Amino acid sequence: MIARLAPALAAVALVVLAPAARAGFVFPVTFDDPGGGYAAYYRPIAQHVAAAGAIWDRHLGGEASLEVVVKFDPGTPRATGRSLTSSFAYQNWDGRYVYHQGAGAEIRDGVDPNGADPDIEIVLGPGYLRDELWFDPRPFARTAPVPTDRTDAVSVFLHELGHAIGFNGWRDLTTGQLPPTYASTYEAWSFNWYDDVYFYGPNATAAYGGRYVPLTRRNWPHVGNWDGLPGDDLLFDLMNGEKFYRGYRFDVSALDVAILADLGLPLQPAAAVPEPMSVGLLAVGGLLAARRARRPVRRT
Ligand SMILES: [Zn+2]
Repeated sequence: MIARLAPALAAVALVVLAPAARAGFVFPVTFDDPGGGYAAYYRPIAQHVAAAGAIWDRHLGGEASLEVVVKFDPGTPRATGRSLTSSFAYQNWDGRYVYHQGAGAEIRDGVDPNGADPDIEIVLGPGYLRDELWFDPRPFARTAPVPTDRTDAVSVFLHELGHAIGFNGWRDLTTGQLPPTYASTYEAWSFNWYDDVYFYGPNATAAYGGRYVPLTRRNWPHVGNWDGLPGDDLLFDLMNGEKFYRGYRFDVSALDVAILADLGLPLQPAAAVPEPMSVGLLAVGGLLAARRARRPVRRT
């Protein structure tokens, strides 16, 4: 009887002792591909979107399932990403109605603003998919060297999910002007200054050394500009709007996370940087322990 009970008790103990699992954010993928011409890519794309989603998940607090639909369009030179709906957030000081990206609203509130419909759309150009993107043999580990003549697919999906989550809006790409009556949460923290637009959210400003963050000229849902222009130190930022370096693995930056915090998205507490003082004390403690451990050995 006791013997039979033991496995059951062990199982109960495991359940109790296991840390509370956080469901977090998942990004299931479906394909809008009439005729199935790109079926060979379904598995790697779904896997790499999931890997990119898992990286965003490490930075964001909360849980939700964000449905991604992937399409293939010969008219798309590279890749695009966006939320398929938006969600009212607040009325700004200038009277404009401000909207979250739909996926951002779902991350924030845990409520899907468009029900069972896909939340996020990613469009891939067939040539870019076939000849440019590099699919990582281990997209979750991200340790294999990225070929110098290819663009890392996890980096691209990270970037496109960034647009869907928050880096987007309705500013006129050419003139840089906002629509008169509305803006995105990203645009509500921005202002025009001659040829440029700057993001001035408090978290982002702090992350950028106390300066306002220059957005990409005529590509405003991005940060940074070419050499010699405002923000040319941001060309390696995941959300830069100028270059996607081949042979390089982009990651979510502290600035990207700070911008999302300014948009009102909840951050994952685990993403906090460890206190330097604690690390130092631990190191000293470890050194003392090592000395104590060595002493008896030397005496013999
Ligand atoms: Zn982009």
